[in-house]
Amino acid sequence: MSKFKHGVASGRLVQEIFEDAKINKYALPAVNVTSSSTVNAVLETAAELNSPVIIQFSNGGCHFFSGKGLRNNNHKATILGGISGAMHVHQLAESYGATVILHTDHCSRKNLPWIDGLISESQKWFNLHGKPLYSSHMIDLSDEPIEDNIKTCVEYLKVLSKIDMTLEMELGITGGEEDGVDNTDIESNKLYTQPEEVAYAYEELIKVSDKFTIAAAFGNVHGVYKPGNVKLTPKILLNSQKFVHEKFSTKNSMPIDFVFHGGSGSSVDEIREAISYGAIKMNIDTDLQWGFTIGTRNYFSSKQDYLKSQIGNPQGEDIPNKKYYDPRVWLREGEITFKERLTKCFTDLNNVNRNK
Ligand SMILES: [Zn+2]
Repeated sequence: MSKFKHGVASGRLVQEIFEDAKINKYALPAVNVTSSSTVNAVLETAAELNSPVIIQFSNGGCHFFSGKGLRNNNHKATILGGISGAMHVHQLAESYGATVILHTDHCSRKNLPWIDGLISESQKWFNLHGKPLYSSHMIDLSDEPIEDNIKTCVEYLKVLSKIDMTLEMELGITGGEEDGVDNTDIESNKLYTQPEEVAYAYEELIKVSDKFTIAAAFGNVHGVYKPGNVKLTPKILLNSQKFVHEKFSTKNSMPIDFVFHGGSGSSVDEIREAISYGAIKMNIDTDLQWGFTIGTRNYFSSKQDYLKSQIGNPQGEDIPNKKYYDPRVWLREGEITFKERLTKCFTDLNNVNRNK
């Protein structure tokens, strides 16, 4: 028997997983996927390690899933790609023996129609199957005045909570560049969320539902760069927990479920420190892109002589090379090194054998 039911989690189960993570000091990797190949590699890893995972699609990831050749007028390609990718996960998660929280990554105001399209699909699913298509969505209006950010998040949380969904929102700005969103030259004070801001968001959101998480900025940066001026300061999370706990006399001494964006390139000590302050989800994209590429790169460089033409290799000029150039072979090599890197993430996040 597994602690958390296999398949895609929704509603209360999502909160139970986050609570379990907080109590036992681990976090779930939230893996950006772009293809059936990366989705399957995540399911395989989560099942092997017997631990819950978050599979997430970015806006660009959704478009890639539907195919770059499909035009994205009226957000059509990103909505359809998001539905298609999610259905792939629903179809396979239980058979793999994986417990998955299915999520979408950053959504700016101009992309809200993308999320609206996915929510309307989740509403259909909820009516048909009693559960939504997605477990949760993220809305990132952190570049707007905080009042506007929170007001819109409250409106969305009202809609999501009716169909057993969770909302992730962002306060303060994650630095760096990811998926076309460039925050590389933002003022550094915006890279650190203030406890008062967290309290304000908590106060407004908790009136609607407890199904929300907060991505707070504590010097985290998307992408991997040479160590620079921005210093990771996980203590910001602890200070916010204390502030909210005292201000609202919450039962839980760490009332907030924090999300760690821009985790790639962080040290295990920094990760564990953030977890100890209530970070229950860490986004991981850049390091896994590299993980996938290593396997395919190594394959292409070691098999060069078998990939110059369809026929003829060092074993003989008439020998066919089909078994070397079949894309399944080199995609699998990428999946294997992706899995190795993801296994390290689970281990760094103290999330191994948590589903027993
Ligand atoms: Zn992010």
